[in-house]
Amino acid sequence: MTGTAQKVWFITGASRGFGRLTAQQALQRGDLVVATARDPHSVTAALGEHANLLALRLDVRLEAQAISAAQQAVARFGRIDVLVNNAGYGLLGAVEEASADEVRAVYETNVFGLLNVSRAVLPVMRRQGSGHVMNISSVGGYSSYAGWGVYGSTKFAVEGLSEAMAMELAPLGIQVTVVEPGFFRTDFLDTTSLVATRERIDAYADTVGKMRDFAADANHAQPGDPLKLADALLQLADAAQAPVRLQLGSDTVARVRAKNAAVEKEMTDWLELALSTDFSQA
Ligand code: NAP
Repeated sequence: MTGTAQKVWFITGASRGFGRLTAQQALQRGDLVVATARDPHSVTAALGEHANLLALRLDVRLEAQAISAAQQAVARFGRIDVLVNNAGYGLLGAVEEASADEVRAVYETNVFGLLNVSRAVLPVMRRQGSGHVMNISSVGGYSSYAGWGVYGSTKFAVEGLSEAMAMELAPLGIQVTVVEPGFFRTDFLDTTSLVATRERIDAYADTVGKMRDFAADANHAQPGDPLKLADALLQLADAAQAPVRLQLGSDTVARVRAKNAAVEKEMTDWLELALSTDFSQA
């Protein structure tokens, strides 16, 4: 799959934010779009009825719905070229504050949901011998922040899965890219999307408390333009040789550079001990 030939997109979480805008931009350039959402009417309400649009019900936590959606996509458009594993939400709170149920719930969507959809769509791409999987991670999936540890860990999981998928699927003609957006102006920080841990522990006031204030202040004032992110995904879909990681946003680029430098420095500082644990050569 190279160049700008008409593509078939399969997008999760297309009711709002990145998913909806990516569906909208893909339709606008003449591509075919399977836009999935927990409530498919939210997709048609936002994008209207369109000959190139198939709006389907898909709560990514439900594997049977993922399988059914993939079958309906192929029945309608014959193939799936680009899978955007986008559905997800944030959990804000200290690692200790997050209850077992809150942790499990965010993994159900952000990690197990992505796996459900991947298992449903990859057989289609393998049969084709082509395709591009875009897994939406986060800057927090590369470098963690106080207050975002559990959410970040779901995205670290997405990063690890994506690296392995890239290696496993490249020989089968399928590209995999993990996308790391910084802070973008969607509903992500809104109470309609972001879950706050029920528990708040005073001892974290100076760290996580400050992050809670930041998130409230930054809501709908984030630096990233989600329409430009959607257009970036369209460009990514056209790449003959896509990257394994794509950082999006100046905040992400700065954070990734800082982490890479910090890891390199710490490893150099501790290199003697790090290299001391192999068996001695006979
Ligand atoms: P958003 O505006 O809150 O949209 C989130 C979308 O995910 C909604 O369409 C929502 O559907 C859907 N969703 C949530 N749980 C779902 C489930 N179980 N099954 C199907 N769909 C589900 O946020 P967004 O910014 O576009 O977020 C999209 C992705 O980008 C997420 O994976 C997020 O973690 C990631 N991200 C966002 C940012 C940012 O700053 N915006 C930064 C880094 C990463 P409903 O309408 O049904 O709730």
